[in-house]
Amino acid sequence: MAKKEEILDAAKKVASKAAQAAKEVAEVAVEKAAEVAKEVVKEAAKVAEAPKAEAKKAEPAKVITPKMAKIPEGPLEKKWTNYKDHQKLVNPANKRKLDVIVVGTGLAGASAAASLAEMGFNVLNFCIQDSPRRAHSIAAQGGINAAKNYQNDGDSVYRLYYDTIKGGDYRAREANVYRLAEVSNNIIDQCVAQGVPFAREYGGLLDNRSFGGAQVSRTFYAKGQTGQQLLLGAYSALSRQIGKGKVKMYTRYEMLDIVMIKDEQGEPRARGIIARNLVTGRIERFFAHAVVVGSGGYGNTFFLSTNAMASNGSAAMQMYRHGAYFANPCYAQIHPTCIPKHGDFQSKLTLMSESLRNDGRIWVPKKLEDAKKLQAGEIKGRDIPEEDRDYYLERRYPAFGNLVPRDVASRAAKERCDAGYGVNNTGLAVFLDFSDAIKRLGKDVVAQKYGNLFQMYEKIVDENPYENPMMIFPAIHYTMGGIWVDYELQTSVKGLFCIGEANFSDHGANRLGASALMQGLADGYFVLPYTIQNYLADQIGVPRMSTDRPEFEEAEKAVEAKIEKLMSIQGTESVDTIHKRLGLVMWDFVGMGRTAESLKTAIAKIDEIKKDFWSNVYIPGKADALNNELEKALRLADFIEIGRLMALDALNREESCGGHFREEFQTEEGEALRQDDKFSYVACWKYTGEDCEPELIKEPLDYEFTERKTRNYKS
Ligand SMILES: Cc1cc2nc3c(=O)[nH]c(=O)nc-3n(C[C@H](O)[C@H](O)[C@H](O)COP(=O)(O)OP(=O)(O)OC[C@H]3O[C@@H](n4cnc5c(N)ncnc54)[C@H](O)[C@@H]3O)c2cc1C
Repeated sequence: MAKKEEILDAAKKVASKAAQAAKEVAEVAVEKAAEVAKEVVKEAAKVAEAPKAEAKKAEPAKVITPKMAKIPEGPLEKKWTNYKDHQKLVNPANKRKLDVIVVGTGLAGASAAASLAEMGFNVLNFCIQDSPRRAHSIAAQGGINAAKNYQNDGDSVYRLYYDTIKGGDYRAREANVYRLAEVSNNIIDQCVAQGVPFAREYGGLLDNRSFGGAQVSRTFYAKGQTGQQLLLGAYSALSRQIGKGKVKMYTRYEMLDIVMIKDEQGEPRARGIIARNLVTGRIERFFAHAVVVGSGGYGNTFFLSTNAMASNGSAAMQMYRHGAYFANPCYAQIHPTCIPKHGDFQSKLTLMSESLRNDGRIWVPKKLEDAKKLQAGEIKGRDIPEEDRDYYLERRYPAFGNLVPRDVASRAAKERCDAGYGVNNTGLAVFLDFSDAIKRLGKDVVAQKYGNLFQMYEKIVDENPYENPMMIFPAIHYTMGGIWVDYELQTSVKGLFCIGEANFSDHGANRLGASALMQGLADGYFVLPYTIQNYLADQIGVPRMSTDRPEFEEAEKAVEAKIEKLMSIQGTESVDTIHKRLGLVMWDFVGMGRTAESLKTAIAKIDEIKKDFWSNVYIPGKADALNNELEKALRLADFIEIGRLMALDALNREESCGGHFREEFQTEEGEALRQDDKFSYVACWKYTGEDCEPELIKEPLDYEFTERKTRNYKS
């Protein structure tokens, strides 16, 4: 019996232990199960969130905030200093490991390439011309602005900032413009140190003259060849680095695409370019850790312009197709003082520098009968007595007179010519007269100041401008729109930077004279060399990549396919014939005065031109050799797209501001009427695919430091 109880006891103990163990196992199992379940739920949640996150990633931000544009915090005058104090730097040993491609050797590209190499980066520099010195910047005549106040006439960094932002009709970013004014003085010091022969006064100090949109004299100049002298300065700095092996120079090369490679997070980054050797026609691949584009403006969309023949918008379009926003494409500058068009077989328009407006007075006859006689060639300008001359700029804008900004002067000339007062055989010209200046200063002084410009005029027009007033008319000259960049000059694509006239930059809706050279050199010498480090500091661990990678292969194939397609058309129209047609559409419908109707017409006409181009262009020669017509065709393909984008942007912007004049939006006196409540933003266009309408993204321009006013050059 006792044994039976013992057995029962033992059995109970075993059972209780087993139960305990089972309970513990169960608890652990429950805990584990709960943990696993939690994980499963987490994973499930992730899976459920993934499409949303993807969608979020794919969905572009509709508005660019100041934070996204990387505008530093703080007061206006401290922003750039604050930025420089806190940006990331790359140490000298690491700089040697990093390669940077710079496309362009104009003032922006050459100064950037030289500065980056001087700092220790390895630079690959490309240009279309046979020498960096032949970039379009060499054509710049009049001068470069800086706030040195050598004349003691009240200039300051703030005043240069204010004039620039006002001149741009309050459509530029405050922080960028202030930085531009701030570094302007460094540019002059840098260039003087390089030996740029700026004009000097008798006492030896640098001389200044006046340009439009300012009441002070702040324009530094080297006769009428300022761009050439500045470019020689940048070129010597560049040559020094070429000699040291830090810059590898590729002349007669044209970039045809940018190569994007995804990083570990799947973010595409600019990692190289595909370029065509223009002499052999060979397509080549180049790698770099970052790509900087300083390819100039797209004014040649209009066919006839003051730009160099090779100036183009293709590099901009390549960036745009890879996701870089194209900002404010409709802001194009029409310069008031160009030699009027004189025939249908002309390929170029010639600028007469704005500096001429320092001493030259602009007028048309007061009487229509005099204008008619001038148009018929029966009389000359000098035959019209003083009392019968209408100095319309001095009459309409007493405070600024002949030195009103370019957009204002151009529109005023158009208004007079439209009213029938034009002074040449086409009725599309006004006079720029130096007779007063010659009386006041003497012919020798006028010749000293402007001699080469007078000579150029005489050679082209075959008339002596010392004896008879020059004839001038507005022409396309500069493009304020361009690739959108943040405060660091980085586009909306990682690792892709854009400088000089190619970016949308600091001039808002209208650039003041002598401010393009200032901006190009500010970007290249003093801004990009700092800001690019903030990007490159995170790239020091990225090894050099082989150009055998599939991304390079694909990009090259796409370029080859495009060239093959163009070469295979063998139609009946030359590239120039089609380009001229595009130019006429641009001038007639997207030119000095635009309306909703004209812009819609332009879009329809450009679509037709595009069809015609891709079905009927004739390109002689071969693709694998020197072929100028092929080069021009590739550029024209992009001008057609840019023209359309300009018209689309102009149609969207239902206001008049700066160079963009919508005839529906003007004051009773015919001045530009802004709509600040609706259009105070940078219009950034995002590429959405071939033949698809681009998407509009806005960067609001909420002015913190400047009061927006209606521009007044009258009092
Ligand atoms: C007649 C004239 C007079 C002017 N006078 C003045 C003045 O007095 N003051 C002033 O401030 N501004 C002036 N301007 C404006 C000023 O000259 C330009 O805005 C400025 O020079 C542009 O410089 P950039 O370096 O941005 O471009 P650019 O000088 O145009 O250089 C572009 C470079 O990019 C290269 N490039 C382009 N596409 C490619 C590609 N796909 N592949 C490889 N390389 C490429 C070109 O070869 C070139 O080297 C004037 C303009 C004109 C037309």
